Formats: sequence, C-alpha cells, structure tokens
Amino acid sequence: MAAISTTLLAVLSSGDHLLAQDCLYGGTHDFVTEDFASFGIGYDFIDGEDPASWKKKLRPNTRAVYVETITNPLLKVADLKAVVEFAREHGLISIIDNTFASPVNFRPAEWGFDLSLHSCTKYLNGHSDIVAGAVIGRSALIEKITHKLNHLGGSLDPHAAYLLHRGMKTLAVRMKFQSESAMRIAQFLEGHAAIEKVNYPGLPNHPAYQRAREFLNGFSAMLSFEVRGGVEAAERFMQKTELPIVAPSLGGVETLLTRPATTSHSGMSPQDRLKAGITDSLVRMSVGLEAAEDLIEDLERALEGEGSQRARKSARSTAIR
Ligand SMILES: *Cc1c(COP(=O)(O)O)cnc(C)c1O
Repeated sequence: MAAISTTLLAVLSSGDHLLAQDCLYGGTHDFVTEDFASFGIGYDFIDGEDPASWKKKLRPNTRAVYVETITNPLLKVADLKAVVEFAREHGLISIIDNTFASPVNFRPAEWGFDLSLHSCTKYLNGHSDIVAGAVIGRSALIEKITHKLNHLGGSLDPHAAYLLHRGMKTLAVRMKFQSESAMRIAQFLEGHAAIEKVNYPGLPNHPAYQRAREFLNGFSAMLSFEVRGGVEAAERFMQKTELPIVAPSLGGVETLLTRPATTSHSGMSPQDRLKAGITDSLVRMSVGLEAAEDLIEDLERALEGEGSQRARKSARSTAIR
C-alpha cells in the first residue's frame, strides 16, 4: 500500500483528477475514496471492460488512469490495450497494479503502461512471510516517486529485502506451476454439481476469457466460486477442507481460502456487494504449490454431500495419473 499511495501522491497534486477502475483492491479503493479529498484530489470510477464509457468521465484536470491486471475476487480483466491507448490519446499517466498476474503472466511496460505496481507480499515474495511493495517505470517518474517516498517513509527493512530477493528467484517456476494447478482446479470445480459458478479467466465461459488470452501469458492462480446452498454450505465446505488454510492474503506457496463477503469486502454494504457480483457464498481460492491432484481430492471430499448426488464423481481417476 505504501508503493500505491506514494505513487498516487507523487503523480497527482491538489486540483488533479484520477480515473480508476471500479473494482479495485480494498486498500486502494479506500485510499482513493476516503483520503483523496483531504489532498484536494478528485476521482471517478470507470468500468474497465467498457472503453466507450471512459471519455465521458474525462475532465480537463484528469492526470492519470489506474487499473488492475486481474481484479479481486471476480478475476475480471479490463481492456488493458485500450487503457494504454486512451492514456496516450489524452496525455494521462497509465498506472497498473499487476499483483495478481505477476511479471510472469503480464509485463505492463511491454504493453505501454507508464507505471506498474506490485504488492510483493503476494507472488513476488511468494512465502507469506513479508509485507513489501514495488513500483516500476521510467526513471523520470520513478525519481519523482522516490522523492515522495523519502518524505512518506515507506521503506523495506534489510531482512525483508533479503527474503524478497530470495523469493523472487523461484517466481517463474512457482507462477507457472500454480497457474497450471489453478486451471485444473477451476475445470474440476466447473464440472462439480455442488458448485454454482466458477470465476477463472482461463475458463472459456469467463466473460474476460478472450482478453485474458490476448494479454496474459498465463491465467494466474486465483479463482473464486459459489457453492450451492448459500453461506452455510460455503462455510461447511471451507471448514471441511484439510489442505487449504482459511486465511486472507494470497500468492504464497500454501493454498488459501477466504469468503470475500466476510474478509476483503466486508466493508461494503450487502447491496453494494451484490451489485458488484460478490455473493455471500462466494469462496476465493489462492492456489499454492501443493500437488493439484491432492488439492482436488481434498476439495472433492469437502464437497461430498453438498449439491445433489451427482456431486459424487470420482476423484480417484484424477489422483492416480
Ligand atoms: C494485497 C494487495 C495490495 C496491498 O498490498 P500489501 O502488501 O498488503 O500492502 C494491493 N493490491 C493488490 C491487488 C493486492 O492483492
């Protein structure tokens, strides 16, 4: 969050205006909606999937546009190419939070983004044992941000920097393995009678599938799904799993489960959550480094008895390969 807030405060001054995607990470959303006013900075939210609607939100004082590569928890992918074109056409600084994709699955600079941000707490470190962030871009912009950083004081202690450096050495192999496992788990869940809906950009019926294929080298390892039977069924399922840990955060070597309605999105009103498509029975999964067949077997067992009897499909055939 220090990387994000410092970047935004370096790029925007009093009287400026930001266009930001409408389904941002909670901390970023709250920084924009709760703290911008005290700095005299304005903002409007845009639908990242509808480029035709952006121009009417533009103001003479708009300075930057801010999006995320893959959003939480519905895994939407904005029209990232259109964001860069729009920014260039209107002289805006284009900023992207690339945390969910990591540089393995999306490289913002190659697509023309001016600045990319990472919560290194997630995939870059990968071991859920530090809190860190990064901002990447051309030197003129980075110098300005560094100057602001010196005032605001977001700096990493040497031991955390060492752990991050060490974690990043395995980023590529972790990301590839975790992305592949996530795809197998998404396919398994999609075929399961106890699951109402699966959100994963690698599934052809996900609304962002075509854009994800165009922009991403891999679909990453985050997915979310609705368990049939509402909140009780979702909670029962989460408690019955043995391999995943029920906890927030993401991107580490352990598989994590959370229910966004009670964690990342608990600050939203139930009506706003529903409007955003986040139901109470939505479960978010960060797929870790465990063997995919073990995870699938565990999920299958935890789902037993949920939904209809058709739910009892064989996990064995997957497990034996
Ligand atoms: C976790 C997260 C952040 C905030 O990162 P911290 O390291 O917890 O400060 C920002 N953006 C996204 C997309 C995240 O998932």
